[in-house]
Amino acid sequence: MYQRLFNFSAGPAVLPVSVLEKVRDEMMNYQGAGMSVMEMSHRSKAFEEILAKTEASVRSILGLSDDYAVLFLQGGASLQFSMVPMNLYTPGKPVDVVHTGVWSGKAIDELKKSTEFNIIASSEDKNFTYIPDVAASQFNPDASYAYCTSNNTIYGTRWTQFPQTGSVPLVCDMSSDIFSRPFDMNQFGLVFAGAQKNLGPSGVTLVIIRKDLAERASSTLPTMLQYRTHIKNTSMYNTPPAFGIYVLGLVLDWIKEQGGLKGMEQKNNEKAGILYNTIDNSDFYYCPNVVKDRSTMNVVFRINGNNEDLEKTFLKEAAQNGLLELKGHRSVGGLRASIYNAQTLDAVKSLSVFMKDFAKKHA
Ligand SMILES: *Cc1c(COP(=O)(O)O)cnc(C)c1O
Repeated sequence: MYQRLFNFSAGPAVLPVSVLEKVRDEMMNYQGAGMSVMEMSHRSKAFEEILAKTEASVRSILGLSDDYAVLFLQGGASLQFSMVPMNLYTPGKPVDVVHTGVWSGKAIDELKKSTEFNIIASSEDKNFTYIPDVAASQFNPDASYAYCTSNNTIYGTRWTQFPQTGSVPLVCDMSSDIFSRPFDMNQFGLVFAGAQKNLGPSGVTLVIIRKDLAERASSTLPTMLQYRTHIKNTSMYNTPPAFGIYVLGLVLDWIKEQGGLKGMEQKNNEKAGILYNTIDNSDFYYCPNVVKDRSTMNVVFRINGNNEDLEKTFLKEAAQNGLLELKGHRSVGGLRASIYNAQTLDAVKSLSVFMKDFAKKHA
């Protein structure tokens, strides 16, 4: 009806049609307010309700205790690479990092500037095609915090079970798989995610933080860069990314309708299963990643022999068939289908059919 194409972009990414329709329906006059959410004061009652409802949804989806604060910040996941050490690092207590891809690498680049840290495990030796086994005993009990990336958007791997870090708070970049499966927030000190993959439009970053950790920050830190500021002011110290928060709230409503995180996980496993089966059952494509560590969000694959000309033809013919954004990240090449929460089963099935036809035609 809308002539929408199948969009496999890694981010910003596909959103549920029902959410877009709701945004459309409420665009000119949000629930009798006489204006859109984009236009209303963030101090208005209508927006305060949106913010409170969105926070309540995060809390109910995760079963979050009062020990944790839910923040809606700006600056993307990338600002968190700096903001986390600024607030949580204590000199003399090096950070323990697990390095699993491009995004943990960017977080490490920020640590290098003014933080002592140890890379306690890395999968760089095999081009990030797996997640290292990390025993609890590998974490320094005196570390300021430990750091990992739940899903490696570019390489297409993910932690199936998160490392046990004992009393050391675990910080996790969940940008590309937050709310795609259940997780126990009590295992983490801080989780962050840019919204544009699984939560809504770009411009909002969801941060969930154990409140006591925010008290470590020096009061000389810029006000906007202290988590404490945003906790105290419930994300309203300055103008928050209001429209993004509104859409994020609608996406959370949609997640609840899908059966919450368990429901999402089931659907995501089904979608990813279709694509990995298509790849594994062919002698035309391959997935470079260890089976047990494969992402259900970003399915990375190549044509045998890494035939770049044929991969270009694949992208061209896929686009002609309405299947868009299947190019691998520019740093790794190859092909990648991003199939976040909102990606439809229909889109995935269409891609699978196309892949089989393409293999037959070009084998
Ligand atoms: C996309 C992504 C980022 C960067 O997000 P921005 O919001 O663009 O800063 C960071 N980490 C992971 C895992 C990502 O997938």
